[in-house]
Amino acid sequence: MPHTDPAVDPTSRLSRRTLAMDASGIRRAFELGATLENPINLSIGQPDFPVPDAMKAAATRAIEEDRNGYTLTQGIPALHESIRRHLAHDLGWSRDGEDYSTVVTSGTSGGLLLASLALLDEGDEAIMPDPWFVLYPQLGHLTGGKMVACDTYPDFRMTAARVEPLINDRTKFVLVNSPGNPSGVVLSDEEMRDLADLCRGRGVQLVTDEIYDEFVFADSVRPDGTCPSPARFDHQALVIRGFGKTYGCTGWRLGYAAGPTWLVEQMRKIQQFTYVCAPSPLQWGVIEAFDIDNADQVARYADRCGMVMEALSPHVDLVRPGGAFYAFFEVPPALGMTATAFMERAVERRVLLVPGGVFSSRDTHVRLSFAVEEDLLREGLAILVDLLQGR
Ligand code: PMP
Repeated sequence: MPHTDPAVDPTSRLSRRTLAMDASGIRRAFELGATLENPINLSIGQPDFPVPDAMKAAATRAIEEDRNGYTLTQGIPALHESIRRHLAHDLGWSRDGEDYSTVVTSGTSGGLLLASLALLDEGDEAIMPDPWFVLYPQLGHLTGGKMVACDTYPDFRMTAARVEPLINDRTKFVLVNSPGNPSGVVLSDEEMRDLADLCRGRGVQLVTDEIYDEFVFADSVRPDGTCPSPARFDHQALVIRGFGKTYGCTGWRLGYAAGPTWLVEQMRKIQQFTYVCAPSPLQWGVIEAFDIDNADQVARYADRCGMVMEALSPHVDLVRPGGAFYAFFEVPPALGMTATAFMERAVERRVLLVPGGVFSSRDTHVRLSFAVEEDLLREGLAILVDLLQGR
């Protein structure tokens, strides 16, 4: 019999998995931000440039030519071909062979969720960095698995030495994120090789979230201009990437995963029954995305990164970001406040930041996004310097 007693709290119908997901930290930051008239918003997690015209035209053409229905669950063949061509150039993976498979996903988030659903049973573990991207701990709640945090403070490098003690019989995968959100830290080729060797040696799957792979600054790129990736050393790694950040189209919800066929096939199967496919006209929109040169944009972000370093590093403990568009700095202990308290002080001065407690077991650092126009960034930095000096 269904419950009809009005005294019964309807929220008791909610699943434990839902209730375990706590959004209060980020919600509080958003709510405080919404109270501001003219904010200096340094909390933004997406690039501030428009989608390249060629991509807009390709997506519009697909809509007008009535390519609006479902696609194959794994995505349209032409997009797979361009992904394979790109990975051959970028990672040295084979272009035509059968040794790996791809699936076009609903954003990078879609790829991460599909991978976790495919790999984790209740009681299984996966290792993620602390600080983490906000979705990572939720992958545990959503699957019944446990996301084990690898403490990467103070340099934010998730090295093999830090990961190894966390691996046990229940560990199914290690999730690496470089360039990292929230730190912007980029691991080196050597660190990537060690992680790949460790995972292979211990028989755990390596999953690499490379959503910021096209946002790497000069001192962190490899000699050929590409981003360090563990997938270069482990062709059985699962690579998860996105189009949203690279081409300014986060709302298109497009990403892809490439990796061992035994795993990607299962991810496709889950997608078949859930998301069905990624947005179809927009898949047409990104077919030629890999040919677009975004060097100017990356150079602009590198300059802004320089502005942030110059303004803040005399006052705070700040690891130089090697990529992405974030800096993650410590609230000076001398100020005697948590990151959330510092964020609240910054809001009083119109500056929006995200406190570290949203991304970490510690609430000691704050994330600043430099995906904002230079004048606004300069203004925000001046206010932060004031606050950091206790003014
Ligand atoms: N991974 C990381 C590290 C991210 O920062 C983000 C977005 N902020 C995502 C995944 C999710 O990206 P998408 O919008 O493609 O789902």
